[in-house]
Amino acid sequence: MFSYKFGGTSMGSAENITQVADILTRNTEVKSVVVSAMSGITDLLISAGAHAKAGKMEDVQKILDTIKEKHFFALQNLINDAERQALTRGFIETQIQKLYEFLEAIAIIQEISPRSHDQIVALGEILSAYLLSAHLQDRGFQSEFVNLEDIVPSGIKVVNRKFFEKVQEALKNRIEPLLLEGKIPVITGFFGRIPGGIVGAVGRGYSDFTASLVGSACNAEEIQIWTDVNGILSADPRLVSDAISLEILSFEEASELANFGAKVIHPQTIWPAVQHNIPVRIKNTMNPENPGTAITANGKKTNRPFKSVTAKKSITVLTMHSFEMAGHGFMDKIFKIFSDYEISIDLISTSEASVSVTVNGNNPSLEKVIQELSPFCRVEEERKKAILAVIGTEMTGVPGIAGRIFTALGNANINLKMISQGATELNISAVIDEENVKIALEAIHKELL
Ligand code: ADP
Ligand code: ASP
Ligand code: MG
Repeated sequence: MFSYKFGGTSMGSAENITQVADILTRNTEVKSVVVSAMSGITDLLISAGAHAKAGKMEDVQKILDTIKEKHFFALQNLINDAERQALTRGFIETQIQKLYEFLEAIAIIQEISPRSHDQIVALGEILSAYLLSAHLQDRGFQSEFVNLEDIVPSGIKVVNRKFFEKVQEALKNRIEPLLLEGKIPVITGFFGRIPGGIVGAVGRGYSDFTASLVGSACNAEEIQIWTDVNGILSADPRLVSDAISLEILSFEEASELANFGAKVIHPQTIWPAVQHNIPVRIKNTMNPENPGTAITANGKKTNRPFKSVTAKKSITVLTMHSFEMAGHGFMDKIFKIFSDYEISIDLISTSEASVSVTVNGNNPSLEKVIQELSPFCRVEEERKKAILAVIGTEMTGVPGIAGRIFTALGNANINLKMISQGATELNISAVIDEENVKIALEAIHKELL
């Protein structure tokens, strides 16, 4: 089987959804489909939640009306059969009404738990998946809408690999029978209420991960992520206009890219694929003939010095100064504090009397961590930084590339805060001011391409 996933832009209008259905039905291979919400809908739902919490139900009503109109408008152009159209319209109406009542309750208690937040966000994928499934049925294909809202096994408190293995098992049990019946399951990218909430624990763009979990659970031949660009490019095309498409990447390269901010795939997409050695392909819904990018175990070297350059914003650098550094046990003490608050560290650099780390600046626990560190060391905090990362196995064992990168940044007048190169030489990264990201990406891209 093949596990397909279509993103927000791909599902963004009736025209796009028709294109999605064309792609799905042009061959007879067994397949499942995971979808994101129609573009913009998740943002609207999150803001509806915030308005409800503030007690502004009039604003909530306006947002839900906008959401309803967008889906009704698409529905008119996607479904011809009158009965099916009425059924789909009724489904959308009921789901939105249910959410309105839920948000009314939130307006009273003025609080949103991660679980409630999940319930709000879930609606986006519930509506888009239902629409696509109804459209496929309208075109005469056997399809079933699969809502994963309740798939997560109860009683598990920690979100780790073990937890996701249980989710994979549940996915397999839910989806394989449908495949055997010859149906195309259209699955919500929202895969259930998880401890800490899906946005908190997995992060935005989670549907890529869902497709990867589905693909690995059902032992897919390939996981295909369909989006709005020709695969993975040498840089974000919104920031670097002459970025080029990459034919092939290794799991490791793709994982590094995703972890260092390339939004094209969610950072968790790769590990389930690695687990079962399933290739991942990134394709363009708007240009299906383009081969896109294949992500495989081994990848392939290009004749360029790198594959892609990316940047991750909203980074805070914490520098901890202490003369105790040289003694043993100091590092243990400070890293335990980060781990207690589940704050992950991207880069570390040390000197004789200080250690600097980069962390996600939006993490709400950061202030607490700084407080707890204070008895052991003097903590300096620098906000609004970004990590730049140049990625590619091409850099392994080739001297001079770091020099070219840093010279290009120097010539562009960009100050470097921290520099790091992993032992595998797959990734050279540096911390810069967030405002310089675009200039830095352009400078490196120009130098290396
Ligand atoms: P979807 O809704 O399909 O999941 P996303 O907006 O999440 O789409 O991801 C696709 C976007 O990722 C592209 O439109 C592009 O702007 C951005 N992007 C960032 N870095 C890269 C990169 N290296 N290659 C391709 N796209 C990238
Ligand atoms: N719709 C969700 C989001 O906007 C999930 C996704 O797009 O993958 O984050
Ligand atoms: Mg995405």
